[in-house]
Amino acid sequence: MSKFWSPQINDLVPYTPGEQPKVANLVKLNTNENPYPPAHGVQKVLNEFEADRLRLYPDPDASALINELATTLGVPSENLFVGNGSDEVLAHAFMAFFRQEKPLVKPDITYSFYDVYADLYGIKIENQKLNDDFSISLENYPSDNGGIIFANPNAPTGLALPLEQIKALLDRNTETVVLVDEAYVDFGGESAIELVNQYPNLVVTQTFSKSRSLAGLRIGYAVAQPHLIDGLNRVKNSFNSYPMDMLAIAAGVASLKDADYFNEMCNKIITTRENTRARLERLGFNLLPSATNFLFAEHKFIEGGELMGYLRTKGVLVRHFSRPDIANFLRITIGTDAEMDALIEALKSHPDMVELDA
Ligand SMILES: *Cc1c(COP(=O)(O)O)cnc(C)c1O
Repeated sequence: MSKFWSPQINDLVPYTPGEQPKVANLVKLNTNENPYPPAHGVQKVLNEFEADRLRLYPDPDASALINELATTLGVPSENLFVGNGSDEVLAHAFMAFFRQEKPLVKPDITYSFYDVYADLYGIKIENQKLNDDFSISLENYPSDNGGIIFANPNAPTGLALPLEQIKALLDRNTETVVLVDEAYVDFGGESAIELVNQYPNLVVTQTFSKSRSLAGLRIGYAVAQPHLIDGLNRVKNSFNSYPMDMLAIAAGVASLKDADYFNEMCNKIITTRENTRARLERLGFNLLPSATNFLFAEHKFIEGGELMGYLRTKGVLVRHFSRPDIANFLRITIGTDAEMDALIEALKSHPDMVELDA
């Protein structure tokens, strides 16, 4: 605290990202990063980039990136907005669409950054309980709202909603923005991008951080009809005209150009995920189905926080959330097969772990 702060800053509860350890050689399965390198073209762009170009400001519209995204996604470029990570795109969307009289409706268990943005912008939140199986119950969401936001697939549960349920929500909820955060969609979810033409109040966000192995470059984007994109641009241009630097624009384009590599890496992670699921079940874990690059897993009799701490002593980092309703779960990012071997070995060394017959 400082007497020099604006008063509202005292009460903010900032988002706490997963630990980025300062020591090497840890098996890092705690922040849903991709274990594989980005597309080969990204390295080439970085190698060939001339530092002298950095004297100039980047293209404020990031047109090269927007146009390549338009080609990749098969949507017109007027339907696209890019930002410095999808976190920034989400922040601008909260400012542009959700500062309404009525509360923003969201699942009680989802990406915890939504609460932080709401707090920052003075937006009231109305949380909706998940179903007993941890799925999102869109059919119960109230029509009286200042907007609706959820992640699909959801985090940290990993569960995906079928597109029909999102369509049914959009048919009912026509007067406020519905934002679908698709950070993990490339690992098995159904994208709502194809609904954007039909629904003037739909915003879909995606990111290069997970499926494109570019968390360090910070690229996210929104897909929506042009009138909503204009709203996002008004906020962006009142905040930072140049959020996308030259390297992000050039390397982002190179990533998009290599569709074969992208599909290959996503499939590899999905295969490792399902192998890991079977191995964890044999060690006595209950797991939710996952359409993401992580597993949400609860051991039948060893408590989540204790397991997380034990794994840390073995050099394996996983994410644990202390809120009581999910305190027994671990969120385990899918790494390489070797990293998953290290996880399983570490778990097997726990004194209370018993391997079940296959
Ligand atoms: C990782 C993540 C993001 C943010 O991604 P960046 O593009 O790296 O900012 C947004 N939403 C969810 C649900 C995420 O898991």
